Amino acid sequence: MHIVAKHLTKSFGSFQATKDVSFEIEKGKLIGLLGPSGGGKTTILRMLAGLEVPDAGDILFHGQKVNHLPPQERGIGFVFQNYALFRHMTVFDNIAFGLTVQKRTKPQIRERVMELIVLTGLSGLEHRLPNQLSGGQRQRVAFARAIAPEPQLLLLDEPFAAIDAKVRKELRTWLKDMIDRVGITTIFVTHDQEEAVEVADQIMIVNQGRLEQQGTPIEIYREPQTPFVATFIGESNRLDDISGLKGFDSEAIHQAKAVIRPEFIEIGHPGEISFPSAAEQGRVRNIFFRGTNWQVEVEVEGDRLFAYRSMELPPLQPGDEVHVLIHRLYVFNENENRLLE
Ligand code: ATP
Repeated sequence: MHIVAKHLTKSFGSFQATKDVSFEIEKGKLIGLLGPSGGGKTTILRMLAGLEVPDAGDILFHGQKVNHLPPQERGIGFVFQNYALFRHMTVFDNIAFGLTVQKRTKPQIRERVMELIVLTGLSGLEHRLPNQLSGGQRQRVAFARAIAPEPQLLLLDEPFAAIDAKVRKELRTWLKDMIDRVGITTIFVTHDQEEAVEVADQIMIVNQGRLEQQGTPIEIYREPQTPFVATFIGESNRLDDISGLKGFDSEAIHQAKAVIRPEFIEIGHPGEISFPSAAEQGRVRNIFFRGTNWQVEVEVEGDRLFAYRSMELPPLQPGDEVHVLIHRLYVFNENENRLLE
């Protein structure tokens, strides 16, 4: 399903849960809706589902406005974190539920359910009750139940939140593979950045009711458009004043803030640095062993920065005077807009 959201706003009392949210999703994409708790993710999902009506703005499915269309007429499937299976029904009957509602014939239902049982790796479990399944198996049943009626849009709200870390990792790769195979447009809510980066074709970052950025995981990581996105995804250092850094002493940059990823910082003795003349002077404060590299905490112009240093190079010591070369930094003005280098 091709989806367009235009200027969606929704308040609960005087609290604005979403503010002027606009986006477009192409058919067949797997979208991760990511952000901190209370940011508005579930509210966006509920408006798409038809469980909330936006106060302002429009939702279009295939170019048709659906703001007031009831959930059952939208062609969507859900898997919610607390959207439990029917406890007294077997795996087979749970998956068959939406098909029975669609009034398909018994042989059609049987064929579709068995197809999904094989697809979701639940063969042999069709006569079990939900309490005779593991958490991961239950989520797979919930997924099979949601896609059985062939919805055009699948909405998943923290589908793996209640599942332990190891199974959760397996399930998310399973989910990506499954969605690629069935080719259904899917939006899943998560507050786990690793989950979104690993699974999604595109990520939408929502914070304080606003959509901060939409893009592929690589775009979001490499070209964050707001300080929030730059610090929420990936590791980073924040600098509230960059006017002391080389090349940033102009008046225009005086009120700017910056975010620097540790991998953009080269640190070492003069002979080890690629362009010593462009480097800042720093002093090592701490050094930590991270297995693949050293993590070095260095003080530059009164700020503390985290940088990495190759294991191939001799270790530094706290107190060492070093050169610090910043290869790249994201600069934002006082309105939090990104300034291009
Ligand atoms: P979480 O990750 O915690 O689920 P979220 O990003 O999904 O958070 P929402 O559930 O969309 O956030 O909530 C956004 C804000 O709107 C929250 O502050 C929440 O308390 C508020 N809110 C959501 N639904 C209602 C409601 N029905 N009545 C009042 N306030 C609500």
